Amino acid sequence: MNRKPIFAANWKMNKGVSETEDFIKSFLSKIQGQDFPAEIVIAPPFVSLPKLADLLHNANAVQNAHAIQIAAQNASQFDAGAYTGEVSVVMLRELYVHYVILGHSERRSIYGETDAVINAKIKKAREVNLKPIFCIGETLEEREGGKLETVLRTQITEGLKDVSEKDMLETVIAYEPVWAIGTGVTATSEQAQETHAFVRSVLADLYGADIAARIRIQYGGSVKPGNAAELMACPDIDGALIGGASLEPQSFMEIIRNGCAE
Ligand code: PEP
Repeated sequence: MNRKPIFAANWKMNKGVSETEDFIKSFLSKIQGQDFPAEIVIAPPFVSLPKLADLLHNANAVQNAHAIQIAAQNASQFDAGAYTGEVSVVMLRELYVHYVILGHSERRSIYGETDAVINAKIKKAREVNLKPIFCIGETLEEREGGKLETVLRTQITEGLKDVSEKDMLETVIAYEPVWAIGTGVTATSEQAQETHAFVRSVLADLYGADIAARIRIQYGGSVKPGNAAELMACPDIDGALIGGASLEPQSFMEIIRNGCAE
């Protein structure tokens, strides 16, 4: 099955407008002329989205740069109104945002987002054709306690409740073991492949094998230039969601380059 890998930078609460500009100028010069067989996505903080959209629009127009897609790191499950601090999916679309990260473990653990909330956000995103990057993952305690499969099956089943096959084909799953996020500890490629295969089997239970074979499943958790090739060589790993190592243009470019190497 030919699934185009997707490499997404999750900048979290890093890089305001001027740092975004510095990054993009440098990153574009590094990827210019390289034709990666992959999709490249950048998720800056909300306030940097308009600047990113401007920079990419100009770059694409002027130098035919590798098209980079823009992602948001979160979105509201509501349309509009009295939701202080929230940003709606319609507002994001206006800023040329195509992807939205939903259900990140930091949203789950720090902001108390439940599977039901994440499910509502996924469905709201699809109403305006935003593509969810739906994050799932277990804690170390859950893995060591033998609960890996139960935890992931619940997150997937609840998070995707009433999400149609058509919408599922526009959704990317990011498997991110919580114990590997920002810790420098990466799942071994065997652990990652085994878990990705399990995730795909749950998707097959829900949507059938044909659809499951077409859904992209990214790995996330301390991905770096040095481990990208080995992880991306696994048959069920279709790209990466990258936090810390995406903050430097050189290391983000190297992850994509190494991850695309055959
Ligand atoms: C993430 O936050 O999605 C992530 C994978 O972070 P890091 O690459 O820093 O582990």
